Amino acid sequence: MNDDAPEIQDAAVSPGGPAGGGGATSDGARPGASPANSGAPLEMRGDSPLTAIRRQGRQRRIKRALAMLEWIVAFILVGVGLYFLWFLVFPPAETGTVARQYTREDFRARLRALPATVESPGWLATNPSPRWRRIVIHHTATDSGTVEAFDRNHREERKWENGLGYHFVIGNGRGMTDGEVAVGKRWREQLDGAHVGGGADRKLNETSIGIALVGNFEHDLPTARQLASLKALLNFLRRECNIGLASIVGHRDMSSTACPGKNIYLDEVLLVLANS
Ligand SMILES: [Zn+2]
Repeated sequence: MNDDAPEIQDAAVSPGGPAGGGGATSDGARPGASPANSGAPLEMRGDSPLTAIRRQGRQRRIKRALAMLEWIVAFILVGVGLYFLWFLVFPPAETGTVARQYTREDFRARLRALPATVESPGWLATNPSPRWRRIVIHHTATDSGTVEAFDRNHREERKWENGLGYHFVIGNGRGMTDGEVAVGKRWREQLDGAHVGGGADRKLNETSIGIALVGNFEHDLPTARQLASLKALLNFLRRECNIGLASIVGHRDMSSTACPGKNIYLDEVLLVLANS
């Protein structure tokens, strides 16, 4: 909106411009007057009817100039009006990209509407290590992504030998299938994660199962299918690894980070798990 303000000022200034132009028209009237003056010495008679006619002519010209000025001002006002109407009907891209603000109620509503079935998971085959003490939920902080892309990024950019730092990635329909649970090498081979470093407890990655949901939940909501898969996966891991509800946490509960985003209300997820 700040961008609009100078426009208004500009628009407010420009009627002043033509007003200056009005000054110019009165200047234009003066040259009209000077021929009258220069005409006077030529026609020595200078009788009053002729002066009256000249005066009337001058007044007519001034009137015409004023009428034109009115038109110009009217055009500018209509232009400014149309300009604002345009932005009212077609808001600029800036305001268009401002993300919708989601609330706890939005998240709860999505949890209530979970798809009933989740495809029979391939995660059941593993024989989990007894060292897992907690589950840490993450978002990828990207709008889209595939497990292969995250794996490549962690392997090549972060130079992690075992690649993908999470044990599981849940797709959101952009890159991976919506609700698809990808099982990482670190889960298949029961390796330490690489997703919750930097805490006081250096052993966090050795004892924490990492689940990442594709998306940026600072702005968006997880999809219903993602939440359904998360619920099923959490229930599976709780059973398999004997992990209590209190040990299912968000990344931000362990480290100073916004992950997994303000639109994930983990307490609501835990409530659903407790009642299921
Ligand atoms: Zn995280």
